[in-house]
Amino acid sequence: MKNFYQDGPSLTNTYRSDLVLQGYLTKILPPDCANEALPHLDHLGQRAATDMLGFAQDAEAHPPIHVPYDPWGRRIDDIKVSPGWQSLEKAAAEEGIVATAYNRKWGSFSRVYQMALLYLYSPSSAIYSCPLAMTDGAARALELFAAPDLRDRAMPHLLSRDPKQFWTAGQWMTERTGGSDVSGTSTDALPFNGTSAFSATHALHGVKWFTSASTSQMALTLGRPEGAAPGSRGLSLFYLELRDPKNQLNQIQIHRLKDKLGTKALPTAELSLLGTPARLVGNEGDGIKKIASVLNITRIYNSICALGHMRRALDLAQDYSRKRAAFGKLLIDHPLHALTLNELESEFKKCFGLTFFIAHLLGKEEVGEIRSSEKVLLRLLTPIVKLYTAKKSIHISSEVVEMFGGAGYVEDTGIPRLLRDAQVFSIWEGTTNVLSLDMLRAFEKEQALPVLLEYFQGCHGVKSKNAGFIKSLEIFQATVKDLQSQPPEKWEASARKLAFMIGDLIAENAVLENSL
Ligand SMILES: Cc1cc2nc3c(=O)[nH]c(=O)nc-3n(C[C@H](O)[C@H](O)[C@H](O)COP(=O)(O)OP(=O)(O)OC[C@H]3O[C@@H](n4cnc5c(N)ncnc54)[C@H](O)[C@@H]3O)c2cc1C
Repeated sequence: MKNFYQDGPSLTNTYRSDLVLQGYLTKILPPDCANEALPHLDHLGQRAATDMLGFAQDAEAHPPIHVPYDPWGRRIDDIKVSPGWQSLEKAAAEEGIVATAYNRKWGSFSRVYQMALLYLYSPSSAIYSCPLAMTDGAARALELFAAPDLRDRAMPHLLSRDPKQFWTAGQWMTERTGGSDVSGTSTDALPFNGTSAFSATHALHGVKWFTSASTSQMALTLGRPEGAAPGSRGLSLFYLELRDPKNQLNQIQIHRLKDKLGTKALPTAELSLLGTPARLVGNEGDGIKKIASVLNITRIYNSICALGHMRRALDLAQDYSRKRAAFGKLLIDHPLHALTLNELESEFKKCFGLTFFIAHLLGKEEVGEIRSSEKVLLRLLTPIVKLYTAKKSIHISSEVVEMFGGAGYVEDTGIPRLLRDAQVFSIWEGTTNVLSLDMLRAFEKEQALPVLLEYFQGCHGVKSKNAGFIKSLEIFQATVKDLQSQPPEKWEASARKLAFMIGDLIAENAVLENSL
């Protein structure tokens, strides 16, 4: 065995190797949609295992660099990104990763088709999926709230399939005082007296502490107009463009790029707004409500990306288990290794069922096909799917690192990155606890609990008398009953446990219903 060298894991077309995705889409998509979507997904699955993989490796190997000054001392705040990162942007536009959702010729299924594209794109994108999430969220917020001229200016770019026309968007909420609690936002929005190509109404002054996609062309952000109330109530939503027609930053100074645990290819900056021209989106006020429409999209993106991440980790572990031998046989032939893999595959399938269930509800809402009870479920389950899939993807990534033994801990195998990148899924777009509390708000404001309990009574798991599902449902019902007589603090302390119980039930039902 002196000359033994281990073969590393490899990928093949990630659509063809994914029987869960194929089975689900074949079942759910109407035939005319499937005729277009399935060949496209096959094509993207091939790219995800070939050229995109090369782009992602280049982007990871050459993280972005902030160049504050030109050689002569002028402040330029250039952010240099790798050719790989640029190619991933080009691929996103060409493949319509955002645009497909807004081409609503298949009604609610356009969103399902688009989320399937994102699911294949994201694990080979070095987290380019993050700028895309905010781009999609911005498109939705502008569609819902912006004046027609502003919509007409930005949306064709955000939804373009032409890489030369394509824009991405940032979502700048977090300040030094907090990302979960933005009530302390100290960005002042003063009257704007100059001229701007997008009819700016205000000049923004403040510091934004986490701005991913800092190379985007536009951003949506929160600010407080003069005289507005303190706290969250006084915040408004603003649109801004980062650069002027001469490609100079629009009164924005970038302080530095964050040195992060993972997401290394993604430029996340700290920056100051120094009188940045910005346009109110809709009327003054309701900033939190309006930016929630961005978060609804980005949280579902986060879930799909976490799901794609799990699939990638498992694909690599499955392949390796057929290449690596120990104690005289391949890893896959060891019952305990095979069982561990099978258990992770079951967790993945539950996440798949849960996430695509919500993605389809989102599609229904966007085209006005959603029933009132489904609308409440969408509101309730959006924070739950995000927190649930994030935690599962961290767990699966950690197990997969271990399944590679020592090689899983060595950087140039590419395996450690799986764990580092997974960790972000539970932090940005709302942490686990913050989202669990958001679920409680849906209980309170939307009366979501009775709607959920009624949904469970008519769901597949109950109708098909599945013993395991019915047992889990009984435990959930008993937990809720116990809480009914308890004070709000007890609900708050139980929120996380309830969120995972609900996530489990919806996921188990989706697995049964779709035979995943
Ligand atoms: C890589 C990366 C990129 C990012 N990009 C962006 C971006 O582009 N735009 C942007 O706006 N933000 C961005 N963020 C910021 C991110 O959204 C915030 O970090 C996140 O929302 C948490 O806010 P915080 O950091 O202020 O933590 P805090 O709000 O201080 O939270 C700290 C801890 O307290 C817990 N906590 C807070 N409130 C409660 C409560 N009521 N009950 C129980 N527990 C609670 C949280 O769960 C968390 O564990 C990014 C973050 C990362 C890591």
